[in-house]
Amino acid sequence: MATREIQPLKPHLNDPLFHPFWEGAQAQKLMLRQCNNCKAYQWPPRPMCANCSGCSFSWVEGDGEGRVYTYVVAHRAFHPSFEDRVPYILVVVDVAPGVRILGNLLGTPPEKVKIGMPVSVEFVKQLGGSTLVCWRPKSE
Ligand SMILES: [Zn+2]
Repeated sequence: MATREIQPLKPHLNDPLFHPFWEGAQAQKLMLRQCNNCKAYQWPPRPMCANCSGCSFSWVEGDGEGRVYTYVVAHRAFHPSFEDRVPYILVVVDVAPGVRILGNLLGTPPEKVKIGMPVSVEFVKQLGGSTLVCWRPKSE
C-alpha cells in the first residue's frame, strides 16, 4: 500500500475579504465584519452590505460567545487530515445578529450536543501554521 502525505486543510487565508478574520484567529480574536453605514454585521464577508448596499466596513472583535444553531456529527472524514478525529462534531454557531460561524465542537461527546447550547470560541493552531476557529461548550 502506498503512503501518502496528508496536507493540512487550509482555510481562505488568501481571500482578502476573509483576511482580517483569519488574522484575528491567529491573534486569538474572533473578528466580525460590520457595515460602517447601518452597523449590520455581515457573514460571510461580501463586497456590499445586504442591508443598506453600503460598501464600507470595519472589523470589530466579538465576545467569542455564541449558541449552537445546528450541528452534524461526522462519522467519515471529509478531508484526510480529519481521519483520526472521527466521529467529530461540526456546529454552526450564532455569534451576532446575522452571523453564523461554522467550526468544530471540542470537548464533548456527540450525544451531549444540543441546539441552543452556549459555546465559547477556541482557537486551534494546525500543522502548517494556520489557526482554526473552533467551539467548546461554555462552562456554567
Ligand atoms: Zn449596511
